Amino acid sequence: MADFTDVLNETLGEIDFDPRELKEKYLEERDKRVRSDGNEQYIEVTGDFSNYVDDPYERAPEREPVFDHVDVVVVGGGFGGLLMGGRLREAGFNDLRVIEKGGDFGGTWYWNRYPGAMCDVESYCYLPMLEELDYIPKHKYSFAPEIMEHSKNIARHYNLYDNALLSTAVTAMTWDDAENHWVIETDKGDRMTARVVAMANGPLNRPKLPAIDGINDYKGHTFHTSRWDYDYTGGSNEGALDGLADKRVGIIGTGATAVQCVPHLGASAKELYVFQRTPSSVDVRNNHETPADFADDLESGWQYARMENFNKLVTGADQDFDLVNDGWTDIFRNLTGIAAKTASKSLGRRLTKAERGELMEMADYRKMETIRRRAQEIVDDPEVAEALKPYYRQFCKRPCFHDEYLPTFNRPNVHLIDTEGKGIDQFTETGLIANGEHIELDCIIFATGFEVGTTYTRRSGYDIVGRGGQKLSDKWKDGLRTLHGLQTADFPNAFFMGFTQGAVTVNVPQTLNEQAVHVTYMLDKVREQGGSTIEITPDAEQGWVDEMESKARFGAKFRAQCTPGYYNNEGSDEKNPNGFFNASYGAGPVRFFEILDAWREADDLDGCTIF
Ligand code: NDP
Repeated sequence: MADFTDVLNETLGEIDFDPRELKEKYLEERDKRVRSDGNEQYIEVTGDFSNYVDDPYERAPEREPVFDHVDVVVVGGGFGGLLMGGRLREAGFNDLRVIEKGGDFGGTWYWNRYPGAMCDVESYCYLPMLEELDYIPKHKYSFAPEIMEHSKNIARHYNLYDNALLSTAVTAMTWDDAENHWVIETDKGDRMTARVVAMANGPLNRPKLPAIDGINDYKGHTFHTSRWDYDYTGGSNEGALDGLADKRVGIIGTGATAVQCVPHLGASAKELYVFQRTPSSVDVRNNHETPADFADDLESGWQYARMENFNKLVTGADQDFDLVNDGWTDIFRNLTGIAAKTASKSLGRRLTKAERGELMEMADYRKMETIRRRAQEIVDDPEVAEALKPYYRQFCKRPCFHDEYLPTFNRPNVHLIDTEGKGIDQFTETGLIANGEHIELDCIIFATGFEVGTTYTRRSGYDIVGRGGQKLSDKWKDGLRTLHGLQTADFPNAFFMGFTQGAVTVNVPQTLNEQAVHVTYMLDKVREQGGSTIEITPDAEQGWVDEMESKARFGAKFRAQCTPGYYNNEGSDEKNPNGFFNASYGAGPVRFFEILDAWREADDLDGCTIF
């Protein structure tokens, strides 16, 4: 019978690296980047910085404030709000209103219009409600304008424009115990009431800026990638940014957003300076148009089946087929339980915990070696290529996939300013200082991401006051408390979508759909029983908090060794109850969806009271 070393060699193929050296290098790279200020290194976009979140796109026309009552208010017109609105309409809840900060539906796709913006999860899984709308995306990975248009089409299909309040931000939400309804106020002077409220604010909705010395001193042009200033740059999502032809442009950040827009900036700007703190892992994208015969054999239910297949594969579960078959499923096939299952088959027994850990670690090194080799093969200047190589394990940061990002660094006008983990030293009136060198810039673009790990109410921009005047910000100050991530005790008829003690999925819309289905089921039950209100019991809430706690440490040890980023709360994962993974269900989405399914199947609304 084969021994473990044979199986390891057989599973991984030839190993041409020294794992011990790599491990040391990873830790060294991590140590360079860990900072004592963690999340505090970022500035809240309020006060002097609030212009960074102004809407540069298409503000809805001015209107008179509304003072009325609707059955359901959905906060947010992104995928969460669209799915919630759509599922509620399907169930006959017609008196509903979406309130959305942006001038139109689309959420993240309304805001993120930067050149090159596209979904990096396969469009046939990612774009919601393809079957309901009888729509097939044009490419395997859709570009932002198509996704935005699809969002509007969902809104049209379900009549969500009717009664919607666009370019409107909720400012207060208060439960009126005597009247059994919510009172909602907005920045447009509205004051309406609603029986039910559903929060679909989006998990990464609030841009963040780095608190770099002198940030206010700079006199040139600046904006954040999620508020792209096409008036300044010219061009469109397809590039051709002719306003930059005579400009020296700096971009701060090299995450998933920068990876998509840097190729266009490089093609258009006179000079482009890419300020890097940590390189992303950038694998093959291989986007292509949807084949003409794609829909020929699709049967009813195909999209859900495809989402399920993808979700299972990227959670480490085995599947007979890989319907998506892309960079995501490839990583997971190699780095999760699927690889362990193959190895144990060859071994004729289950792997021990240590063997499994070793297999995963070795497979991870090998995968990241191919990513590093890709940078070396594509980028001509060996020093630049070396600086673009990520030295950390694959899931320390969000994996990126792009075929034009790395070649952009071969352009003579594109300069990588690698700060080796230190970041920018200082802003001056005319540019940036990095590595002690001053670089003159006409424009600085912040590709510095979005708030993660701050409190829920800070990110949503309004507090919610439940029974007895209890503020949500107080109730959740030491961490979230929910049942299934959707409801919290003493906040009747209030539902939370997104990553509030639910499960994180690579394909986020799948989670949002499951949540919309679940909430609709509950409201249907309230209606069936002739009630008006549904509320969870404190015991049910405590039960889920305990369940969350019991699964909380999954992956924590792994993340603790990672280079800092929002996945590990900027390197201090242990401490923050609002951290990205700390606030999500540790046993993963497959198990989480099973729990929701079983709960609905039991049909006894366990943990809820209806009156
Ligand atoms: P990220 O948070 O991923 O990246 C921010 C970048 O800014 C990092 O490279 C970070 O460096 C850098 N940075 C922060 N502070 C400084 C500083 N002081 N000096 C220099 N650099 C600095 O934001 P993104 O907008 O790129 O992506 C956010 C998320 O949005 C993604 O993770 C993904 O979930 C989502 N997204 C999804 C897409 C999709 O197709 N579905 C497409 C694009 C984004 P460091 O790494 O060192 O912290």
